[in-house]
Amino acid sequence: MFNKRMRIKELLASESTNYETTVMGWVRTFRNNQFIALNDGSTNHNIQIVAALGKFEEDLLKRITTGACIKATGEVIPSLGKGQRVELKAISIEILGDSDAEKFPLQPKKHSLEFLREIAHLRFRTNTFGAIFRVRHTLAFAVHKFFNDKGFVYLHTPIITASDAEGAGETFRVTTLPIDGSAPKNEDGSINFKEDFFGRSTNLTVSGQLEGELAAMAFSDIYTFGPTFRAENSNTARHLAEFWMIEPEMAFYDLEDNANLAEAFIKFIIGYALEHNKEDLEFLAQRLAEEEKALPQDKRSELGLMEKLDFVVNNDFERVTYTEAIDILRESNHNKKKKFQYLIDKWGIDLQSEHERYLVEKHFKKPVILTNYPAEIKAFYMRQNDGCEPGRQTVAAMDILAPGIGEIVGGSQREERLDKLEQRMKEMNIPTEDLWWYLDTRKFGACPHAGFGLGFERLVQFVTGMGNIRDVIPFPRYPKTAEF
Ligand code: ATP
Ligand code: MN
Repeated sequence: MFNKRMRIKELLASESTNYETTVMGWVRTFRNNQFIALNDGSTNHNIQIVAALGKFEEDLLKRITTGACIKATGEVIPSLGKGQRVELKAISIEILGDSDAEKFPLQPKKHSLEFLREIAHLRFRTNTFGAIFRVRHTLAFAVHKFFNDKGFVYLHTPIITASDAEGAGETFRVTTLPIDGSAPKNEDGSINFKEDFFGRSTNLTVSGQLEGELAAMAFSDIYTFGPTFRAENSNTARHLAEFWMIEPEMAFYDLEDNANLAEAFIKFIIGYALEHNKEDLEFLAQRLAEEEKALPQDKRSELGLMEKLDFVVNNDFERVTYTEAIDILRESNHNKKKKFQYLIDKWGIDLQSEHERYLVEKHFKKPVILTNYPAEIKAFYMRQNDGCEPGRQTVAAMDILAPGIGEIVGGSQREERLDKLEQRMKEMNIPTEDLWWYLDTRKFGACPHAGFGLGFERLVQFVTGMGNIRDVIPFPRYPKTAEF
C-alpha cells in the first residue's frame, strides 16, 4: 500500500509532537538547501520540512525544486520558526516527480489572474486557486445538503435535448452529420435532420427546468444541479458558455414560497462555507482587500468580503416589485443626471445590469428580490398575474440580485392553467406540438408550482469575491477558448 500519509491540514492541526509520520505533496519553495515548504492541497498552509544540513545527498537536494512532487517521512517536532506550530524533521525524502525549475511556469511570486488562466492546468497549485476551488467544493456539497435535508429529490435532467423551448439563449448544436457540406438535404435545401443521430435536430441543454417540472408533478420537490450550455457571444465577467446551474422545482409553491426558499437556500450555503472554509475565505478576503487598494476610494467595496458574507447571512433580502423598482430608478439622481447608459423612461423596459447594480449597491445596499416583471420581457411559462392594469400585464417572476454580481437567481411561479399557457405559447410562437409532454402535466393533475435557477458560478464568484467568472470554474469555456 502506497497511500500511507498524513494530510498536511491534519498534521498542522495536530496537538501532539514527537511522533513519526509521512507527508506527500508539491514543493512550493526550498530555502537555504534546508527548508522545504510542502503543500498537498488540503489547506493553503504549507508544512515546513527540515532537511538537516549534511544529512542528504547533494544529488537529491538538487531535485527538490519548486513544483516537484516529494514524499517525506520524519519526526513531527515543535517549530522553532515563526508562523507554524509544528514542522517535520526529515528522516527520508523521496522524489516522486521531478520538476525542471527552469521550465516550471509557476514561480514563487505573484502572477496575474490572466496569466494563470493560460496555465489553468497548473493554477490549482497557487494559494488563490487552492482557496477558490476548496470553497467551490464546499458550496457544491452544501447545495446537496440543503436540499437533501429538506427531502428534495436530486434529478438528473438530460444534457442533450431537442428543444430550446425556453428561449433562454443561443444553443450549441449536437449532431453526427458531416459538416463538409455533404449532409443529407431536404428538397428545400435545408439539412435533413431525420438522417441525424437522434432523427431530429438536437442541442445541448440551456436549462433543465421544463423536465424538472415534470418530476415535481410526482415527487413534489426536486432539484437539479448540472451543466448548462449557452452559446452567447457575450464576453463578460459574468457569462460562461458552459456553467453549472441549480434548479429546484416545487409543487404547491407560490411566488412568495419560492422567494422564501431561494433566500433560505442562499443564506444556508454561504453560512455553510463560512463555517467550513473560514481559513480559505479569510485568505480570499485579504486578496480582495489588497486588489482593491489599487482602486480609487469610491470604487472600493464598503464591506470586506467576510463582513459582506456575514451581512447576507444575517439580514433579510429586500423584496421589491418591478413597478416599484422602475419608480425608484426613474426618480433617482443617477437617472436625472443621465448617468445610466440606458435611461429609465417608461414602464415595461428590461433592466440592464447597470440598473440592477444601482438598486443593489447604491439604493438598498443588500441583496434584492425583484418580483412581478412585465410579461413581455419574461418567458412563456411564467404565471400570469390576475387583475393587472390594462397594458401592464405582469408575471409571477422573481430575480435575485446580489451586490457586485447582478442577477444570481432567476425564477417564477409557473403557469399551471392550460388555456393561459397555450395562449401565451401561441403569442410567443412557441411550438405547442414539440412540448406536448410539458402541456400534458397541465392536463393530468396540474397544481400551483414554482422554481428557480441559480447560476452556481455566480454564487461562487459572490462568495469568493472574484471579479471574473472565468476564475471560479476550473476550466472556463467562453468565446474562442476551450483549452484544456
Ligand atoms: P443574465 O441576464 O445574467 O444573462 P439570464 O436571464 O440569461 O441571466 P436565466 O436564464 O434566468 O439567466 O438563468 C438562470 C441563472 O443562471 C441566472 O440567474 C444566472 O445566475 C445564471 N446564468 C445565466 N447565464 C449564465 C452564463 N452565461 N454564465 C454563467 N451563469 C449564467
Ligand atoms: Mn442571459
